[in-house]
Formats: sequence, C-alpha cells, structure tokens
Amino acid sequence: MTPANLILRGIPASPGIVIGRARVISDTGEVQNSFRLVYTEEERLAELERFRLAVEQAEEDLLRVKEEVSQEFPEHVHLFELQLMILKDQMFHKDTLRLIKENNLNAEWALYQSFEKVKNLFSRIQDPYIRGRVQDVDAVYRRLLGNLSGWAPQRYLSSSEPIIIVARDLSPAETTQMASSRVLGFVTERGTKTSHTAILAQSLEIPAVVGLDNATRQIANGTNLILDGLTGRVVLEPGDRLLTTYQTRKQEFETFKSEVGRSSELPAITLDQFATQVLANLELPEEVQLALKYGADGVGLYRTEFIYLRQRQLPTEEELFEDYRRVVVAMQPKPVTIRTLDLGGDKFLSHLEYAPEMNPALGLRAIRFCLREQGIFRTQLKAILRASAYGRVRVMFPLISSVREVWEGRELLQSVQEELTKEGHPFDPQLPVGVMIEVPAAVTLAPLLAREADFFSIGTNDLIQYALAIDRGNKQVADMYQPLHPAVLRMITLAVEAARQAGIPIAMCGEMAGDYLYVPILLGLGLNELSMNAMAIPVIKHVIRRLTLREVREMTLQVLEMPTVEEINDFVFGQMQQRFPEIYRFGSALVGTS
Ligand code: PEP
Ligand code: MG
Repeated sequence: MTPANLILRGIPASPGIVIGRARVISDTGEVQNSFRLVYTEEERLAELERFRLAVEQAEEDLLRVKEEVSQEFPEHVHLFELQLMILKDQMFHKDTLRLIKENNLNAEWALYQSFEKVKNLFSRIQDPYIRGRVQDVDAVYRRLLGNLSGWAPQRYLSSSEPIIIVARDLSPAETTQMASSRVLGFVTERGTKTSHTAILAQSLEIPAVVGLDNATRQIANGTNLILDGLTGRVVLEPGDRLLTTYQTRKQEFETFKSEVGRSSELPAITLDQFATQVLANLELPEEVQLALKYGADGVGLYRTEFIYLRQRQLPTEEELFEDYRRVVVAMQPKPVTIRTLDLGGDKFLSHLEYAPEMNPALGLRAIRFCLREQGIFRTQLKAILRASAYGRVRVMFPLISSVREVWEGRELLQSVQEELTKEGHPFDPQLPVGVMIEVPAAVTLAPLLAREADFFSIGTNDLIQYALAIDRGNKQVADMYQPLHPAVLRMITLAVEAARQAGIPIAMCGEMAGDYLYVPILLGLGLNELSMNAMAIPVIKHVIRRLTLREVREMTLQVLEMPTVEEINDFVFGQMQQRFPEIYRFGSALVGTS
C-alpha cells in the first residue's frame, strides 16, 4: 500500500498540474532481453532473418505513426524521419548485422552492443541538444528490442480513461501520440529538461516530470497522482487537503497561462511606447510553426547545423535552399536571420576527417571552419541567397574574432552572388550581413566591426563562456555561468554603444534573451531586439508590456554601479519578484530558468 501524501521529486519538464490515476509502463525490454547467446552457423541465418523482420516491423510502425502525426502535428514529423534514419544507420543497423554475421550472436545482444557504442559516442558530445539525440537512438533500440521479444510498446494508447503515464523513458514518437489520446501527463525516470521528449511535451502542452529515479518501481499501477510539472513534484495518494491546494494552484496557473498567452499576439511595446521585437530561435525548419504559434516577430537565429548533422552526406545546395525557403516563406513578411554554419568544436561531421582537438571550443569552429572549407561555405551561402528571393532574409556569421574574417566572408558572398547572377537565380542583392558578438575580441573590436556589418547579434551563450572562462557545458562550473556578471554587462554595453554610434541595429540571441528575469536590464542596456526559444515569447512579451523604458533605465544604471554579480542578482531578482509575483511563481517553469 502506498502511504498517503508521499511526495517524489523529479525534474519539471513541461508546465502544468494534472490529477489522475497512474498507468505504469514497465518495459521489460533492455534488461531481460539483452543476454548473450552464441549460435551455430545455421541458426545465424534465422537470427539475421529475425532481425530483418524486427526492422521491417519497426519501419512499418514508424511510417504509420508518421502518417498519423503529420495530420495533426506536421511540425513534429521530423522526429519520425529521424528515427527512420537511425533504423537504417550505418553504425546502428549495419553494425548489428555485422555482429550477428561475424560472431554468430543473437540479435538482441548484437543490437545491445551497437547501441552501447553509439551511446558512448553521443555521451562525449558537449552540445546538449545533440547529446540529447541519443534519446532517439534509444527509442529505436527499444522499439527493435520490443519487436524481437514481441513486447508491444504502445499498448497504453488505447486507454479510454484519463491517465498519467509512468515509464522508464518515452520516445518523442510516443509523446507525440499522447497528444491525441487521453493521457493527462507523464512521469519518466530518464530525461532532462532539454531532452527531446521534454521539449515536445512543452510544445504539445502535456505536463511532465522527468528524471524521477525509480518512478516505475515507486509508483504502482492505479495509484492516484498529482503531477506538478511546474516544480517537478509527484504526489502519491494525495489526501483532501493536498488535493484542494493543488486544485487551487492548477486554477491559478491556468488563469496565468491564458493571460500570458494573450500577450503573444500583441506587440512587444513598453508602457511608455518603446517598441521592441521579440523573435524566435530555430534549430529545425519544422519549428517555424511554433514560432508562428507563439507570436514571433521573426526569426532572430536560425541555427543551420542540424541538417548537416542529421545526414551522412553533406547536404546539397538544393536541399539547403528548400530547407531555408520553407522557413522564409512561412515567416513572410517577417524577417528570418540565417546563421551560417557553426560546425566544429564538438559538432563535427563524422564523415569529414579532422584531428581531435584538445580545446574544441577554442578550435576550428564556426566561421573559422567555413573559411577553411570554402566549398562547404559557398554551397550554404548560395542556398541562403537563393532563399532571399522569397522573403526577408538576413545572414550572420558566428564566432567572429577579427575584421578580416568579416571581409573574407563578405568576399565569398560577393563571389557567390556573381555565380548566381550567371546561373540566372534571383536573390536579394541588399541581403543584410550581420556579425555575431560572442568572443571578447569582437567586443573590443566592435567599433571597427560595426563599419563592416549591417547588424550585430550578441550570442551570450558563447560570450559568457569566453568572457568568464566557464565552459558552457560543464556542470562543475555551472553555478559560475552568470549572465548578470558585471563583466558580461559591461561587454554588452560596449557592443550596444558601438552599434549605436555606427547606426546599425543590435540584437541578442543567446539564452539570456529568453529569460524574463533579464528583460529589464537588457532593455535598459539599449537592446530592442531579443531572440529566444519560441516558447518563451509570450512571457517575455507579457513582461515588456508591463515595464517602462524609464524605470528599466534607472534599474540598469543602478546595476552598472554594482561590483559583484551576487549584489546584481539579489537586486534584479528581488525587483522582479516584487514587480511580477505571478511570473515568479510560475514563470520559471514556462521559460526554463533556474
Ligand atoms: C550563442 O552563443 O549565444 C548562440 C546564440 O549561439 P550557439 O548557442 O548556437 O553557440
Ligand atoms: Mg554561439
């Protein structure tokens, strides 16, 4: 018997409170089926056939689900495409076949071996987004294992009563299917706030708690649950008092959410009529639907790496053009800022031969890589230019640390324009060219860079890492990664001032721009274009619409006098708690702040 009011804690992954009965999915897959057997020569053929059938079945299922999802959530179809690709991937599929053939192993064990290898490879990647894709590999692995053992992974979807799913892990595909079933929310043992499943749950608005250790063992099927996706708490068998508390909180949250939601379609204007632009960051073209849904004034950062990372060959000019054009047309007449490739460092292509680097963050990355690999760069520039004929496109170069890099980038752009003219392709001859400010050298050079650029965009994720010498992906020093550090604020001030003197616009597109706590200081420092994760847009607009430029300037002047980040944090967080108590209660879960 579960004691009443037992509270378990996980990671809040998708905001909202739901109350319902648990449906525990105890997948027996991995542990019980991954034993090692060695077969005879003849048995090996049967094993190969069994694996082939499992793959065929998985392919059929994925294609079917993809078809279903494409009707209701076209923006999430890529998840199924990704899993279909993994299914036939060299390292995964071919390696499993090889292990069965060469070592006469059973399919489960061979599959487990190749999965472990891929998992290991992913764990060494620093970028949390890419590292998080191991989840898709895991989903394919579990699907195949399920097919080999006859275990049916989606049985809960036929449920006719409202339930809260409790599982070891859920694949993005399973999560998407939940949106159209009677699932109120879910709890998983695995996952982080940035895992694909968490991101999906947010966009599908399914409350979720992830990373709750042993959830499937601690929660029995049929247990009454309160799932609080705002704090990460899960209450088992709640008593009347807790039920009433949570019902009130749920009501308050829903009122708050609909009020904030109303801001998304309104202009981001302060009470004293200072107009700002709130834009979306995209990583995949499909996310453009989310940008539109949350009322983005454009795309302030389209990270273009993922198409290179999600396929084995380099994408062709035509593929890139189609990818960019899709986003540009969907956003019309709003602007789309395409950042050129930020590959290198930890985001290397497995099919390009490069020596491993001791300090990848300080290595052959971004614009440095593109200027070295000019063939790859030209193809991308051509595709961007061609897309510019279909709407308002801007291009920007990442990790600029010298004026020469901008010259070289512009020269290549010029020569690509000549090529396109010869080929008869239309493009925007006035395509604005931006420089990302994300290296301290770019801050000190800002007055000189401003002469070469049509706009600046501050990438705080990198600027903070390089300014404070804090690895952005290292948990050990995560508490020292401080956006309000006086050194960072002074750097932003210098960049804004250089842009103002040169008469060019300046935006911010790092995560700092999407955290409502920083909004007054960013506006006070003179920024009026903020680009962020699309889901943060409503809250940011809500805040901007309740501030005056006069008060944020005053706040900022005070902050710039403070010598330590602790003092600044206390002051800013205190002010925001006072000004926006409703967001202080709920907002962190909505915008992913700490
Ligand atoms: C940044 O560094 O702030 C940025 C926006 O780029 P990325 O996070 O892709 O490095
Ligand atoms: Mg960056």
